[in-house]
Amino acid sequence: MSRRPYQFSTRCVRSGDLWEDTDARNKPIVPAIVQSAIFDLDAVEDAEAIFSGERKGYAYTRFGNPTVEILAKALADLEGGHGALVTSSGNAATLCAVTCAMAGKAAPLVTHPDIYGGSFELLRIFKSVYHMPVEIVDTADESLWLEAVGRAGAVLLETPSNPLMRLIDLKKTVETAHHHGASVIVDNTVATPFNQRPFEFGADWIIHSTTKYLNGHGDVVGGVLLSRKPLTKEHRAIHKNLGGTVNALSAWLTLRGLRTFSLRMETHNRHAAALAEWLAVRPEVTAVHYPGFRNHPQNEIFQRQMAGGGGLLSFELRGGEEAVSRFINHLKLAIHAVSLGEPETLVTLPAKSSHRGMSADDRLKAGISPSLIRLAVGLEALEDVTEDFAQAIAHV
Ligand SMILES: *Cc1c(COP(=O)(O)O)cnc(C)c1O
Repeated sequence: MSRRPYQFSTRCVRSGDLWEDTDARNKPIVPAIVQSAIFDLDAVEDAEAIFSGERKGYAYTRFGNPTVEILAKALADLEGGHGALVTSSGNAATLCAVTCAMAGKAAPLVTHPDIYGGSFELLRIFKSVYHMPVEIVDTADESLWLEAVGRAGAVLLETPSNPLMRLIDLKKTVETAHHHGASVIVDNTVATPFNQRPFEFGADWIIHSTTKYLNGHGDVVGGVLLSRKPLTKEHRAIHKNLGGTVNALSAWLTLRGLRTFSLRMETHNRHAAALAEWLAVRPEVTAVHYPGFRNHPQNEIFQRQMAGGGGLLSFELRGGEEAVSRFINHLKLAIHAVSLGEPETLVTLPAKSSHRGMSADDRLKAGISPSLIRLAVGLEALEDVTEDFAQAIAHV
């Protein structure tokens, strides 16, 4: 008899022991860190069965590892997918996803300019080294975006986008892509499965930088590629041979982070929504970009595809570049640092960090002004963060 599936938060808390592949009694609740590169192949016949896939077993950690496999199962379960390939970074997951999705395709990879900076740089390599056709289309005009999606071999998208928190309609994009035989990869790092479930809209692949919210403690760089359908031998071969695989210790740390994922996201959502409100009424603040915010221009899409706004937002201060520098230099609690999804509240200037490779003109066209501040809201007490912001804004 099948049991009702556990709730999302239960599956996070039990992400270690729930997925351990053993019926053994007295098994550890915290999974073992199998920090071994190689495994005993036993008899020649056993090795044959393991290598042919006839029998489950391990040979070499790049091909598979028991600790990594527990993480793969836990992550596939949280997104509702059928397979997971754990990678050494988010970028390695993007590389693996695009390689799987574009295999055998002549039509272009269609994506948009406001994807993560590291993914954007990867596109340059796809084009210049691999001669992959890549089409970069602005999503602001939905009909132009969908038209491009209709001629794609595969689509790579990120919603909400970073740092301007623009949304892309998942349902329309997936329907259009599938109608024309293209597959869709969604980078769900910023939204997380707590707030957005792309497989429920038919997306074929989901990628994550687990470095961010899923691990959530700023002590591991990692990623994952998830598949809505069961993975094929070819997908596993691509993952294994591209080589961006992960070791047991990083997987174990990520499993530990996952246990509090649901709890952390509840707080990230609540604190970010409150800070968006707090910032919006300050006279020094000229704009706040947060999905789910009452006057976000795409609230209709938000309602359809997101359960919460997440922990990331951006805002602009009156007074331009100098005001923004004064604000950041006077912060005492919030940290001036890249990344997101950490327990600490982090601020960055996209024009001077993630988007510094763009020309000033291109940045302005993309809506990234020199006074745009990106804020990754952490888990500190809200009143301590607002107090810190208030004293730093007083120096603007
Ligand atoms: C950080 C990030 C990545 C890349 O992940 P790494 O772990 O740094 O390689 C990809 N996409 C998004 C949205 C990210 O924030």
